[in-house]
Amino acid sequence: MMGPSHALSGATVWLAGSWALDQFAGYEQSPLMIAVGTAVCAGGALFPDLDLSGKVTRNQGGATVARTFGVASLFVAEVIEKISLGVYHATKLSKDPNRKNGHRTLTHTIPFTVLVGWGTTALCAAYGKWAVIAILFFMIGLALRGLFDEWAKRAGWVIVTLLSLGAAYFTYLHLPGDRGYPMLGLAMGVGCFVHILGDLITRAGVPILWPIPIGRRMWRMFGPPDRYSIRAGSKFEVVVLRGVFSVVSVLAIIGLAIPAVHRHFTAG
Ligand SMILES: [Zn+2]
Repeated sequence: MMGPSHALSGATVWLAGSWALDQFAGYEQSPLMIAVGTAVCAGGALFPDLDLSGKVTRNQGGATVARTFGVASLFVAEVIEKISLGVYHATKLSKDPNRKNGHRTLTHTIPFTVLVGWGTTALCAAYGKWAVIAILFFMIGLALRGLFDEWAKRAGWVIVTLLSLGAAYFTYLHLPGDRGYPMLGLAMGVGCFVHILGDLITRAGVPILWPIPIGRRMWRMFGPPDRYSIRAGSKFEVVVLRGVFSVVSVLAIIGLAIPAVHRHFTAG
């Protein structure tokens, strides 16, 4: 799947989940909390592709996520790709093929999603304010890039960066610390997981079972049979999948808004 579809799927899962929690568990969230969770989950759903680097010196290539903050994030992507490749080679078994590129390895595994979720919460707990602002800044930038792809291309990375910074600071000022910080970690972890599920229906597949060895392979790629797989940028992805995600998101937003509006009026 392409970046915008990944981001949209993350936003959809978070919105639908928030609606379900509100509806069936009575777990209410303020509009700001829902907005922040949705943005972080949308950004998180782009995060694993930070292993897809481009050409740093020429400022070209790379996934949506790797281009969010211009050359700086392209450089980070290069480093993550190399680390992933290192982990691949360090843990590969005799039947795993040789690789020259780390894309779709370490960052596309379940231990990675857990690590990201836990790490985010731990960073916020340990460093407080500055960690929260930094994480929000990065994730809101990703979400803007992913969800408003065309607009972000026209606006350029400087505008996206400034907007992310403003939104991150505003959120920091208004986000309650106790409940808000663990939520950031959860949204990151869920976002990464949704990304992996998205890649799972594509032809190349993902090493979803790593690090469980099967038949002398640690990095078996799981995906659908060829004729059922989704090609990146295909009509099915762009029209059907994104259409379904959009409809579910809008329904969830309406479902979340109705009780709030109702409470507002009945409370006088
Ligand atoms: Zn991916």
